[in-house]
Amino acid sequence: MNLRQFTAKLCEKCGTYMIQHPTIHGYIKCHSCGYMKMENPIITLENYITSNSLHPELLNDPGYTKEIQDNANRLLDKVNAFLHELNISQAKVNSGWRSPTINTSIPNAAKGSNHLKALAVDLGDANGELRKIVLSKLDIAKKYGIYFEDMRWTPTWLHCQIVVPGSGKRIYIPSTAPAIKSDAWSGTYDSKFN
Ligand SMILES: [Zn+2]
Ligand SMILES: [Zn+2]
Repeated sequence: MNLRQFTAKLCEKCGTYMIQHPTIHGYIKCHSCGYMKMENPIITLENYITSNSLHPELLNDPGYTKEIQDNANRLLDKVNAFLHELNISQAKVNSGWRSPTINTSIPNAAKGSNHLKALAVDLGDANGELRKIVLSKLDIAKKYGIYFEDMRWTPTWLHCQIVVPGSGKRIYIPSTAPAIKSDAWSGTYDSKFN
C-alpha cells in the first residue's frame, strides 16, 4: 500500500476512494461515481460544524444528523469552490452550524435561521475586504447559487447561504431592524445577478 492510498479520502456519496483529479488542479475525484471536491477545502466540515472550534461539543450533539451533515457538505462544496475561484485561500468561520440552543443564545439571530439547517455560514470580514471582492464577483456567486445578507447589516462578517431568499435577491435585507453600518456599501447592484 503506498502513502497516497493510505491517506486517501473516501467519497461522501458512495464510499469509494477518491483519486487526484486528472486535469483540475487541487481537486480529487471519485472514480466510481465521479463526485469531485477540493483536496484541501478552505473550510472543513469540522470547522463548519464547530464554528472554528468554538463549539467542539456540537460534533457529538444529537441534532448533528445525517441530514445536517449532507446539507453542510452541499453548502461547503459551493462556498469552497466560490472562494477558490475568487483566489481566496483562507476564510474563518465566525458562525457555522447552530443547534437550536446556540441559535437562541445569539442576539438578533433569526428564529428560522438557515444556520439551523447547515445551509448558511458566516465568514469573518473584519475590514470589509471579503465584501469588496464578493461585490465585484456576483456573477460567480450566481454560478454557485450563493446568496448574501445585505452587508450593511453584517459589516464585519459575510453571511453566505444556498437557500434562495423570499425576495429572490442575490443580496437581501435580513431584518426589519436598522442597518448596523449604513455606508458599508452602496446598497445597489445589477439585478441580472438575482
Ligand atoms: Zn463516489
Ligand atoms: Zn449568518
